[in-house]
Amino acid sequence: MPVHVINEANRCLQCKNPRCRMLGCPIQTNIPEVVRLFKENRMMEAAEILFENNPLSVVCSLVCNHENQCEGHCVRGIKGEPVHFSSIENYISDSCFERLDLSCAPSNGMKVGVVGAGPAGITIAIILARRGYKVTVFETREKIGGILRYGIPEFRLPKSILDRYYRRKRDMGILFRPNFELGGKVAIIGAGNAAMDVARTAIRHGSKDVTVYVRGDKVAASENEYNYAVLDGVHFEFKKNIVRIVDEGAVFCDRVEDPETGKLVDDHSTDTLVEADSVMISISQVPRDRLVSKDHDLLDAYMQEKFGNKSAE
Ligand SMILES: Cc1cc2nc3c(=O)[nH]c(=O)nc-3n(C[C@H](O)[C@H](O)[C@H](O)COP(=O)(O)OP(=O)(O)OC[C@H]3O[C@@H](n4cnc5c(N)ncnc54)[C@H](O)[C@@H]3O)c2cc1C
Ligand code: SF4
Repeated sequence: MPVHVINEANRCLQCKNPRCRMLGCPIQTNIPEVVRLFKENRMMEAAEILFENNPLSVVCSLVCNHENQCEGHCVRGIKGEPVHFSSIENYISDSCFERLDLSCAPSNGMKVGVVGAGPAGITIAIILARRGYKVTVFETREKIGGILRYGIPEFRLPKSILDRYYRRKRDMGILFRPNFELGGKVAIIGAGNAAMDVARTAIRHGSKDVTVYVRGDKVAASENEYNYAVLDGVHFEFKKNIVRIVDEGAVFCDRVEDPETGKLVDDHSTDTLVEADSVMISISQVPRDRLVSKDHDLLDAYMQEKFGNKSAE
């Protein structure tokens, strides 16, 4: 039986401690606020809240596991039928999608490549484009969507929704490169075990020329991993440091011995462009945050950006 979304919204109790949101929703969608705005005929505002919180709101309203999430935790469901928020969310997000203001911040001059146009790639591409990044999404398949398109059946998720996302992303200036495969020349920065895996994987995906650029005179990878990489045909360039990544490839400089300290230092008179189809950074498993953690102004700015509050005194 179809659910009447206005009736459903009227059944919502606007709980002060909404279980649907706090216990049920993995991304804490502000359900009572969305329902309140909807009931006040302020649907665009409700749609904006939904989209800001989750650019894939239209999709999630159809394919999330609502019985175990928002609706499974609704207080109304304890003694009767829960509020069917998924239907309300779908009505709002679907009707307003084309009308949402998706204007982007002025360009910050930085480019980002997103690999894969599944839900993760679509979401991060939208978020970064709105923050002023120039985003290109590379995808091996012909169309965007990942498993949403090629896994979930049409009767559960109409593919036309993904085409609407494609059009909106295009209008936001996000570039999409379909049928993209790692072909050609690959430069890898970093020389640990992860870099060996990346290099050997690139070879197995058909790359003809894979070179690992090493800052020092030896790799950090284990001897075995290094030997297998050499066996597979990976090339190594030692005493090279990355200067910048450009559209055509990467610029490297030589590292030369400082006559006073004996340590290797960058020699920028040797800056050279190495042309490559793909440049992959494979350094460290986590970002180094020592600068941020020691500088309190920076730490405050970081906490404000990430969590909306200041660092603990
Ligand atoms: C049959 C099925 C039904 C599902 N049903 C649901 C559901 O109802 N509800 C739910 O919440 N979740 C469901 N899931 C899970 C959900 O689909 C995944 O959690 C989600 O798709 C993961 O998103 P993703 O973007 O990380 O990866 P994916 O959807 O797998 O997208 C990855 C994309 O990256 C591309 N790609 C991969 N490698 C490269 C490369 N080297 N270069 C360029 N492109 C590349 C792929 O072609 C693909 O398009 C289902 C999964 C399956 C398999
Ligand atoms: S728990 Fe149910 S009744 Fe309470 S705010 Fe959420 S949807 Fe409304």
